[in-house]
Amino acid sequence: MQSLTSLHSFGLSCTAQAFIRMNQPTDLHSSLNLKSSAFYILGEGSNTVFLEDYQGTVIRPAFMGVDLKHTDTHYLLKVGAGENWHQLVLWCMQNQIYGLENLALIPGSVGAAPIQNIGAYGVEIEQFIHQVDFYDLNKQCHKSLRRQSCEFAYRDSVFKNDLADKVVITSVTFAIPKIWQAVEHYGELRELSEPSAMDIFNKVIEVRQSKLPDPKKIGNAGSFFKNPIISLEQFHLLQKTWPSMPSYALDNIAKVKVPAAWLIDTLGFKGKKIGGIACHPNQPLVLTNDGSGTGEELLALARSIQSAVSKEFSIELENEVRLIGKNGPVVL
Ligand SMILES: Cc1cc2nc3c(=O)[nH]c(=O)nc-3n(C[C@H](O)[C@H](O)[C@H](O)COP(=O)(O)OP(=O)(O)OC[C@H]3O[C@@H](n4cnc5c(N)ncnc54)[C@H](O)[C@@H]3O)c2cc1C
Repeated sequence: MQSLTSLHSFGLSCTAQAFIRMNQPTDLHSSLNLKSSAFYILGEGSNTVFLEDYQGTVIRPAFMGVDLKHTDTHYLLKVGAGENWHQLVLWCMQNQIYGLENLALIPGSVGAAPIQNIGAYGVEIEQFIHQVDFYDLNKQCHKSLRRQSCEFAYRDSVFKNDLADKVVITSVTFAIPKIWQAVEHYGELRELSEPSAMDIFNKVIEVRQSKLPDPKKIGNAGSFFKNPIISLEQFHLLQKTWPSMPSYALDNIAKVKVPAAWLIDTLGFKGKKIGGIACHPNQPLVLTNDGSGTGEELLALARSIQSAVSKEFSIELENEVRLIGKNGPVVL
């Protein structure tokens, strides 16, 4: 039996039957006999909530290493899946490799970054991904996918769909252009005038630290829900009742993204609690665990938000966080 409480940032009190840390991709050949038993691949647990005792094996890919190559135009960085994401961003900054600074301080591992195509402050990681190397658990062999085949979309990729739970990502190769261009059009970054990459890095850290609850102090998994994408037609209809509803245009499609935080806030959920689980008083998209919360309480609060949003706006909120029950994934 292995406690999972400190292995996921939401920190619910629960266990797994077993825990295996894999240090080398070759361990995947020798020690995995997963066809017969339930398993869950876990990075740093910042996008996973274990709701109750998990009746399977939790596997932590801990493949490390950073290998830097150059082409005329790009830095090619091949990074082990077990490396910490923010430490990689920091390493890049220290080595004058600029481009990842908008994604500073996102918790989690490098291996998980392509899975939900992590994004923040106007940048998504897909634009820097060259190749993802993985072990195919069904075919029991190593394979690679180039960026074009990863089916990246907003908080989405082939690894969350067709390949979900069928592969272990072993490394990610990033192609970072040698000519740097600032992305400064988003939120508080607009306050900066002709910023350097280091200015953006520092600002992102400052804003994130002031806005988001630190999982080391209060359990949380970042944004609990995805920002919904709705048709322009539905948006214009909703605007008649809710003229102040914000939206972000999406390239090339007749749809808009609506901030889930605005929907949740408008319905008065900020600060609402069920037992030890709360909707954060400043960041309503973040649900928190004061240390005494349970999986049932979390589901109850998340479902009450989801059903209120559906009733009032006819918008179906989807969870961004992966919810794991005793036998595996749980649908909200
Ligand atoms: C405070 C806070 C702020 C956050 N802010 C952001 C943000 O701004 N933008 C953003 O995009 N996300 C954000 N997140 C979410 C989270 O940081 C990312 O989703 C991160 O990529 C998760 O990494 P992890 O290693 O913790 O993943 P885990 O939670 O361990 O795993 C997530 C998923 O990836 C799978 N997985 C993990 N590693 C592997 C592997 N090697 N091979 C195959 N499958 C694997 C798991 O099975 C699971 O399905 C935030 C989270 C927190 C707690």
